[in-house]
Amino acid sequence: MFEVFLKKGKEKAVLQRHPWVFSGAIERVKGKPANGDIVKLLDAQSRFMAYGFYNDQSRVALRLLEWDETVAVDENWFRQKVATSVEGRGYVLRAETTNTCRLIFSEADYLPGLIVDKYADYLSVQILTSGIQNNIAVIIDELQRLLQPKGIYDKSDASSRAHEGLETANEVLAGSPPPELVYVKENGITYGINIAEGQKSGFYCDQRDNRHLLAAYVQDKKVLDCFSYTGGFTLNSLQQGAASVVSVDSSALAIETMRQNIELNGFDAAKHTAVQSDVNKQLRRFKEEGQTFDVIVLDPPKYAPSRSALDRASRAYKDLNRIAMLLLNKGGLLATFSCSGAMDIDNFKQVLAWAALDAGKQVQFINQFCQPEDHPVRSSFPEGEYLKGLLCRVY
Ligand code: SAH
Repeated sequence: MFEVFLKKGKEKAVLQRHPWVFSGAIERVKGKPANGDIVKLLDAQSRFMAYGFYNDQSRVALRLLEWDETVAVDENWFRQKVATSVEGRGYVLRAETTNTCRLIFSEADYLPGLIVDKYADYLSVQILTSGIQNNIAVIIDELQRLLQPKGIYDKSDASSRAHEGLETANEVLAGSPPPELVYVKENGITYGINIAEGQKSGFYCDQRDNRHLLAAYVQDKKVLDCFSYTGGFTLNSLQQGAASVVSVDSSALAIETMRQNIELNGFDAAKHTAVQSDVNKQLRRFKEEGQTFDVIVLDPPKYAPSRSALDRASRAYKDLNRIAMLLLNKGGLLATFSCSGAMDIDNFKQVLAWAALDAGKQVQFINQFCQPEDHPVRSSFPEGEYLKGLLCRVY
C-alpha cells in the first residue's frame, strides 16, 4: 500500500475524524499511487493515522475511510458500510409513508463520493470519486443482495466528477433499465420520476418532511411555489386544500412532469397554474401586476457552491427573499430554503433579517426546516449539513 505523509501541525482534523485531507496538508507521497487507490496516511513521525482514497487531481487529495489500522479496507469493508447504511434507513421505509429515500449519503455514511437513492424498485447511483468507481462492482453486488432491485441506474452526471478525472455516466449498471417514469409514493402522493432525464438523481426526497410540515398551513390559502421542479410543495398544497397554487420553474421537463403528477393524483387542475420562467423575473412580473399570495415557497438550487462564494450567494438569497416578502399578504407565510452547505442557519437568519429590512417588513421565524433522517449529518463532518429552511410570518 502506498504511503502519504501529512505535514506537521495538520493532524488535528484527521484525529477528529474529518474525512478530507486537502492537497496543501500533504508533505510527500511515497511512490506513485493511482487516483482512486486506497493509501495509508501517516503523520510526520511516520505514525499511522488513517486509510483513504487518493486523488491528485482533486483539491481534496485524500478522502479518509478508516481510522483503525487493524481493519482492512477490503471488499468486506465496503459490503459492511453499504449494509449499515441501508439498515439505518429502515425506519424511513418501514414508516410506509414513502418508498423513496436516500440509502447512502456519501461521507455521512463513510462512503465518500457514493450516493444511492431508492425509487420504489429501482436504485439511482451517483459515483463522484474514483475510489468509489474502483469499488463499484462489490457495492452494486451488495445492494442487489440486500434489496433485489429491478434495476440500478448510474446517474453520475455531476460536474464534480470532472475534478476526479471521471467521465459523466448515464447508464444501466445492473438489472433492467427503469421505465420512462418510475412511480413512487410520499405522504400519500404519487410522483412519476424520470430517473434518466430528471435532475440530480431524479427527485428531491430531502424535502419529504418539509413538504409535509408546510402542508399544515395551506388550507384555503393562495400558494406560490417557486422552483417547483416536479411539484413537491405544489402537490402537497393541492392535497391539503389550498385555494390555488401557482408553480414557477425554468425547466420545461419539470413542469411537464408536474402536470402529469397532478393528473395522476386526481387533484383539481383548475386550481393550478404552472409558469415556465426564471423565478427572479417572474416575481418582479407578479409585483408589477399587483399579484399577492398567502404562502410562498422558495426552494432555489444551491447558490453557494463553496465558502468563498458565500458573500455573493448571500446577496442573491437576500434579493430573492426580499421580493417574495413584497408579494405576501399581511401575515402571510414564507417557507424559504437554502441547500448551500456553506450557509448555516444563523447566516440564513441574518440574510432574512437583511431582506426584511430592505422590504420594510417585520418577520417572525415560526418554524425551522432541516434535512431528513435519510440524509444524516456525521458529527465529524458538519459540511454534510446542507439543507435548512425557515418558516417566516411576514407583516
Ligand atoms: N422544490 C422542489 C425542488 C426544487 S429543485 C421539490 O420539492 O421537488 C430546484 C429547481 O429550481 C429545479 O427544478 C430547477 O429547474 C429550478 N431552477 C433553477 N434555477 C431557476 C431559476 N432561475 N428560475 C426558475 N427555476 C429555476
